[in-house]
Amino acid sequence: MRLSQFFLPLLKETPKEAEIVSHRLMLRSGMVRQQSAGIYSWLPLGKRVLDKVCNIIREEQNRAGANEILMPTIQSADLWRESGRYEDYGKEMLRIEDRHKREMLFGPTNEEMVTEIFRSYVNSYKALPLNLYHIQWKFRDEVRPRFGVMRSREFLMKDAYSFDLDEAGARASYNRMFVSYLRTFERMGLKAIPMRADTGPIGGDLSHEFIILADTGESQVFCDKSYLEMTAPSADLNYRDDAAMAAIVQDFTTPYAATDEMHDEDAWNKVGSSSQLSARGIEVGHIFYFGTKYSEAMKAKVMGPDGKEHFVHSGSYGIGPSRLVAAIIEASHDDDGIRWPKGIAPFDIGLVNMKPGDAAVDAACEKIYAALEGAGKEVLYDETDNRAGAKFATMDLIGLPMQIIAGPRSIAEGQVELKNRLDGSRVTVTIDEAINQLSAS
Ligand code: ATP
Ligand code: MG
Repeated sequence: MRLSQFFLPLLKETPKEAEIVSHRLMLRSGMVRQQSAGIYSWLPLGKRVLDKVCNIIREEQNRAGANEILMPTIQSADLWRESGRYEDYGKEMLRIEDRHKREMLFGPTNEEMVTEIFRSYVNSYKALPLNLYHIQWKFRDEVRPRFGVMRSREFLMKDAYSFDLDEAGARASYNRMFVSYLRTFERMGLKAIPMRADTGPIGGDLSHEFIILADTGESQVFCDKSYLEMTAPSADLNYRDDAAMAAIVQDFTTPYAATDEMHDEDAWNKVGSSSQLSARGIEVGHIFYFGTKYSEAMKAKVMGPDGKEHFVHSGSYGIGPSRLVAAIIEASHDDDGIRWPKGIAPFDIGLVNMKPGDAAVDAACEKIYAALEGAGKEVLYDETDNRAGAKFATMDLIGLPMQIIAGPRSIAEGQVELKNRLDGSRVTVTIDEAINQLSAS
């Protein structure tokens, strides 16, 4: 992409309403535009990042055996009356009436709808386990939308729903999602710690929130420092091996980790002060087993191997991709701007032409641009006639992991400068070396 063609509406002034760094940087770098309280448009730079986040989530959900579908944003109130939640949900639900005076709503979540789909097609245990997910906009009329896309009213959610014959099966499904979340967040360069969460009337131990530590987080959290050293399993793991999945979950739930709602002072004191980490956290994912709550209310039954009908056992598994974009910035920025982890960055490489119009520099930049694009890299090529200082500041602000700087002096010697945005290092290499090195990276 050539910068002259790219819609990148940068802001010079930091908007006063932005209280946290991710919100400031998202507005300054032209990633999002607020349309009304808690409702945002995603502009090209932001949309590219959001898509990267969704694709990682999608790949890891698919790897874990989940099936992607797409349910609508608008749902009928009747469906929610079946579960009793139409009355219970309260003011966070945006209620709508259509021209025929039918009551509709903008979905805040999809348990009812996915259960309706399930019961329409599945009637035997042989089709289980089944996990259906979608990535779709949700609306919750939050009392206090704030911090930009971190807590908005319209937000993107990946929500998966598992269906099993019994509780043991549901636990295995839960474990697969747990493990896939470990991989998902690690691929985004995040340390997301699974913390025990409230299970409400369902009880048991099958509810975890995945929390990123950040000073601007809304929750107070307590965990063992050993989590900071733990790494997610590699991609060659076998999701069909229930025992292996349970062992991974066991490892990641043994050290202490809880949000303040679930905090247990006695257990915390046993951690030992040198291992205690008490911090602020951002919830980026939540997995939850709710048993037969919806299947009983909505009559979702399957025939078991015993020849009897059983209400299916389910869980739901949410991740907030739009909140994640902000959370990644909270975790990775400096005074100059964003530092995108590889794999999330809107472009892999920024190519800065220091003297557009200079035939040698133009030719070298065109060559580099074509070669890297040909190698499958996403390059943002700055061929505008902006001042050098402004070009550098823009590249630093938008945080592409690698920059190539080509000016008349270096090009005369067949060289360019490579700047690594993540560690700040700079090296001068020949044009061909630059192409080879970055094509392979
Ligand atoms: P919170 O406690 O932050 O309100 P929640 O418990 O209501 O979250 P869930 O219903 O579990 O959230 O939703 C799943 C995921 O959707 C959350 O982990 C979060 O990443 C995201 N999410 C929830 N509410 C919002 C919001 N208002 N804005 C952006 N993302 C959100
Ligand atoms: Mg909420």
